[in-house]
Amino acid sequence: MDMANVESLQELLDTPISLPLQVDLRYNVAVCTECCTGVAFDWMQSHLRNKHGIRKRLDVVMEHLNIEGPTLSSTEVKAWMSEVWVLPNAIKGVPVRAGIACKECQHSAPDITSMMVHFSNRHPDLKTKDNMMKCNI
Ligand SMILES: [Zn+2]
Ligand SMILES: [Zn+2]
Repeated sequence: MDMANVESLQELLDTPISLPLQVDLRYNVAVCTECCTGVAFDWMQSHLRNKHGIRKRLDVVMEHLNIEGPTLSSTEVKAWMSEVWVLPNAIKGVPVRAGIACKECQHSAPDITSMMVHFSNRHPDLKTKDNMMKCNI
């Protein structure tokens, strides 16, 4: 798929760059900090455009994320989410509902119990209460 040339040159000139995307380096997955969901490498541009009205060339997005190679693809992200994440309902077109997210790695969970499990597995040295925030899942 030719992703790099989809956007026009005009959009390249857009500055400054402010994107709600981050990369979780542990999993090599792009995460949308506004939606609290994993975003596959091949979905990044359309996610930014459709969800946030942001049009950026893929290489600009990659530069923002400070990555040189692709993060997880949609197939890999699906496998990753079924293991690591609660599936973001937004992707299936189901209305988002309130959940909680881990400030440390943006992992999201539907309730505090799942989040406590997440903390004991991933961040045993951090307090769940102090390191979570509300989000939509
Ligand atoms: Zn988003
Ligand atoms: Zn976490």
